[in-house]
Amino acid sequence: SKAQVVVIGGGYGGATAAKYVRLLSEHKIDVVLIEPNDAFVSCPMSNLVIGGSRQLAEITTPYTALARSHGVRVVKGFAQSVDTQRKTVTLAGGGTIAYDKLVVSPGVDLQFDAIEGLRAANDAGLVLQAWKAGPETVALRRQLEAMPDGGVYAITVPEQPYRCPPGPYERACQVAWYFKNAKPRSKVLVLDANPDVTSKGALFKKVWAEQYRGIVEFRAQHKVTAVDPRNGLIKFEVQDDVKANVLNVLPPMRAGVIAQQAGLANLASNRWCGVDYQTFESSVAKDVHVLGDSIQIAPAMPKSGHMANSHAKVAAAAIVARLAGWPVNPNPMLTNTCYSYVDNTNVIHVASVHEYVAGEKTFKTVAGSGGLSAAPNQTEGIYAWNWAQNIWADSLG
Ligand code: FAD
Repeated sequence: SKAQVVVIGGGYGGATAAKYVRLLSEHKIDVVLIEPNDAFVSCPMSNLVIGGSRQLAEITTPYTALARSHGVRVVKGFAQSVDTQRKTVTLAGGGTIAYDKLVVSPGVDLQFDAIEGLRAANDAGLVLQAWKAGPETVALRRQLEAMPDGGVYAITVPEQPYRCPPGPYERACQVAWYFKNAKPRSKVLVLDANPDVTSKGALFKKVWAEQYRGIVEFRAQHKVTAVDPRNGLIKFEVQDDVKANVLNVLPPMRAGVIAQQAGLANLASNRWCGVDYQTFESSVAKDVHVLGDSIQIAPAMPKSGHMANSHAKVAAAAIVARLAGWPVNPNPMLTNTCYSYVDNTNVIHVASVHEYVAGEKTFKTVAGSGGLSAAPNQTEGIYAWNWAQNIWADSLG
């Protein structure tokens, strides 16, 4: 009988892995993709929906092509548990699926309980994250639209590592762009637990100082301890309380819940999943590959969609090779590009190339690779939107 690969999570890592196992095996391996959502909503570009220049429909892609064009069996459901001994996945509604190889790419778990009051505030819809694109993205946009001119939007940034290092700063730009045009007396506060801007720092700071002078204010070393949404307050470990109208509090993050439950999150106090970087096979469970934001990353490897897509191709090739009895690629390569929109059309990017170094069992940035924009520009605005169209087609088309 045919070998079966089961994939948990239809995001940047999982959808890509499902498609590429089908392609690379020339349809000789069956693939089951488990995903609770009806359609994929992209986190990349979701800040533009918050800024108001794009709609959610423009960043949404159905799963139908994976089934129709590639023969992936898409199961709408939520993986409740994994038995790595018996090699089965159990779904939330009951039902068990057996695997020869398992791919786990559930993204991040937002650690609401690390911040006092945050879970209740989120449940009540008062303090949103919108760090998983979808209904919350639209809800946060609504909060900004409802805010009076002269109000304050505050975004808090957790300590590294977290999903998408430049994401909070891009969002600050998007909200500032909206305020500048629609509510010019309003303010954007960036309250960062880290000592400085984590990604493209000099470029973002220049944009805030020039394009958004008097709107964006950046404050480092602000580690959130509690939220009090009734009084519009954010509380910090050391610094004074901050009052704001719209509170966008990002808690610390860790590997997705299913990865923790399956015992795959073995590193950094059980926060992230250790993998063999040559194949992305879990360092604790045989025949289980972990991708994307859930893994413990090698130095200079961001938690990004582009990276998750790149991990997926390495893992898919290794899975197909092993099931066929072929040797695995000894030197996989990963690439990354992260574009950030500073307004509705101007963009900055950072890019890098990472090579697996067998002697050290890790990925290293290739010397002289990659790059950084000199300044925001409209040409990269075109590249950025095309990057999104291409990666959606590559992962889901
Ligand atoms: P995801 O893409 O989140 O996919 C996880 C999937 O697993 C989800 O569909 C979820 O429903 C599903 N799932 C979870 N648990 C289960 C379960 N138990 N059973 C079944 N399914 C499950 N990256 C870039 O490269 N470029 C950018 O410009 C960029 N911008 C960003 C902007 C913002 C505002 C944010 C928040 C992120 C951005 N990112 C960007 C980062 C990018 O979104 C993530 O790095 C990427 O989504 C990680 O892929 P993943 O497969 O690990 O997780």
